[in-house]
Amino acid sequence: MNIILLGPPGAGKGTQAARLVERHGMRQLSTGDMLRAAVAAQTPIGIEAKAVMDRGELVSDEIVSALIDAELLAMGVDVGAIFDGYPRTAEQAEQLDAILAKHGRKLGRVIEIEVDEDELVRRIVGRYTCATCGEGYHDQFKQPKTAGTCDKCGGTAFKRRKDDNEETVRTRMAEYRAKTAPTLPLYEARGIVSRVDGMAPIDAVSAAVEAALANA
Ligand code: AMP
Repeated sequence: MNIILLGPPGAGKGTQAARLVERHGMRQLSTGDMLRAAVAAQTPIGIEAKAVMDRGELVSDEIVSALIDAELLAMGVDVGAIFDGYPRTAEQAEQLDAILAKHGRKLGRVIEIEVDEDELVRRIVGRYTCATCGEGYHDQFKQPKTAGTCDKCGGTAFKRRKDDNEETVRTRMAEYRAKTAPTLPLYEARGIVSRVDGMAPIDAVSAAVEAALANA
């Protein structure tokens, strides 16, 4: 099955996508991760996208849709895709329809993760990851068991995203409200939207996501 995880930045899309990958062998397609990789590798796309991302604004629809198209091309059709952070505009939603049709895929479900914005800002501003294995941590909610050492791989270097500061986060939220949330009615009209409470504990959110997929 192919699904979209929809929700403002920090709603937990990446966390839920990682769990779906583990449980169902699906593949996470995060345009944010792809763009960050392009920035790190200083590709032409990365160089163009960097300043826009640092401000919390949206990269062009053409760039992100081309990234998704290329990833799908490299995947077997039997592997389900989890779209994480894409589509983010009405144009991208239209482009995704065309891309899916081209690759012989169907959209099974759109899962909207609902959250409280102020709580989200607290979540995002404190988060960081292990620089070696990518395990996620948080200043308030999830510190490593031994300070300064990753629980998962023992690494001692950690990193924070440059756009995880309050001002940029507020811009990213505003972008979500203005451009991404309006894509929902399109999917609602197709009867494929499920809503889950993103403020619940992570395991409860996962259970709700699983239930939404089971009923799809
Ligand atoms: P994310 O990791 O999904 O929060 O994305 C980080 C940043 O990458 C966003 O604030 C945007 O600047 C850019 N980005 C990621 N996905 C998209 C997308 N689908 N459309 C436009 N910009 C995107």
